[in-house]
Amino acid sequence: MMYEKAHGPFFHEFEAFDDDRRTVFWRKRLADLVAHSRAKAPFYGERLGGYDAGAEHPLSNVPTMGASDLRTAVPPGGRSLLTSESTGFTVFQSGGTTGVPKTTLFTHTELEEINQLNGRGFYATGLLPSDRVGNFWAVGGLYMTFIHMNRMLQQYGNMNFPFSNHTPSDFVYNVANLFKINCFSGIASVVLNTLREIEAQGHHLATGFGVEKVYYGGEHLYEADRKELREKFGVKTILAPGYGTVDTWYIGYQCTETPAGVFHAHEDQCYSEIFNEDETRHCNLGEVGMLYATPLVRFLTPVIRYRVGDKARWLGGECACGRKTRRFELLGRGDDVLRIGYDSVDYNGVQEVALKIPGLSGSIQMEKRREEGKDRLVIRIESPAPAENFAGLAENFEQEFLSLRPSFREFVKKGSVWPLAVDILPLGTLERNSRTGKLIRVKDVV
Ligand SMILES: [Zn+2]
Repeated sequence: MMYEKAHGPFFHEFEAFDDDRRTVFWRKRLADLVAHSRAKAPFYGERLGGYDAGAEHPLSNVPTMGASDLRTAVPPGGRSLLTSESTGFTVFQSGGTTGVPKTTLFTHTELEEINQLNGRGFYATGLLPSDRVGNFWAVGGLYMTFIHMNRMLQQYGNMNFPFSNHTPSDFVYNVANLFKINCFSGIASVVLNTLREIEAQGHHLATGFGVEKVYYGGEHLYEADRKELREKFGVKTILAPGYGTVDTWYIGYQCTETPAGVFHAHEDQCYSEIFNEDETRHCNLGEVGMLYATPLVRFLTPVIRYRVGDKARWLGGECACGRKTRRFELLGRGDDVLRIGYDSVDYNGVQEVALKIPGLSGSIQMEKRREEGKDRLVIRIESPAPAENFAGLAENFEQEFLSLRPSFREFVKKGSVWPLAVDILPLGTLERNSRTGKLIRVKDVV
């Protein structure tokens, strides 16, 4: 079992290597990956000409790749990223439910490796084999996470409950109560919704079977939601064991000492860069930029310098957990910003306003609309309050929003954008992705 093998301060010895030793390790892996890709993947052609093994940032002169490249270079769109004729792989979907799906291919060996990596994150965030774990990840439609989460829990040695994101909450409650499930793992909004529904059915979770640990992923969990998990549902541990994308690999993991949004980098598994795209240079410590990921262990379809789409910054100093791997802070999707007239409204900022108004939850959607040639910002927020309070809550939110954003107020006054529209809604009513259960947070004009 994974847990017994790892028993010690860290899951893998790499986590304790000093800077020099870790650097030698990832540089060697990167060199092997580049050599393999040059030789076997037609996609790269001349693209790797700029690779400089000895440079501080060896991929500085290598072009980035993105979703459209995967669409055209991986089946069914093409084959130029494939390095082998072998068909022993699993096909997962990584976006696009209509037309040609965007796929990502993992050999069965790669999937076993990813279980180990997932186990590393769970070990660092305090999962014990005695924990009884409900798996609420999305399943079906070639979706990846549920499957490897299930396998990891079996290998780790836990009592495992494969609910997925499709099980009705009254059934979840019955099972959780009977088996004393103490740990929920899933996309943050799915876990939160399940707990809210159970509570709405009249079960008091803080005093009931007791969910002590929530291991989430897939999206950022905002402070309003964390507060609700702690105060309303009695959750003690709220951590993300893995951050990554299905197009790349696991990129980082939390430990019991990392604050919200901060991750250790899986430096032996994925070479990560944070890049200032305006000035075409790598970011300094603490400076925010776009995250690029190069999985070092995917050889069937090597992915080099993938533009993940998330913003991040490197943190200095050492983590109190003792792991030496570098830490970064994730700062949300680079596209979680709406241009409203001349103003840029950032989703994180909207969350901060809502946090100041008692009675509002962290389940929020913002939408940009075009009405008669002008932009309108619509903000929808779920609230556990009775419906008769909704109008007052909307009013409070609007006042607070405008007092923090005088520029927005000014644009409205000049008539260049429509006034803000705030909609308060009952819990669970905002639009979610039907496949994953993720809240649709930002809607732009298409
Ligand atoms: Zn740590």
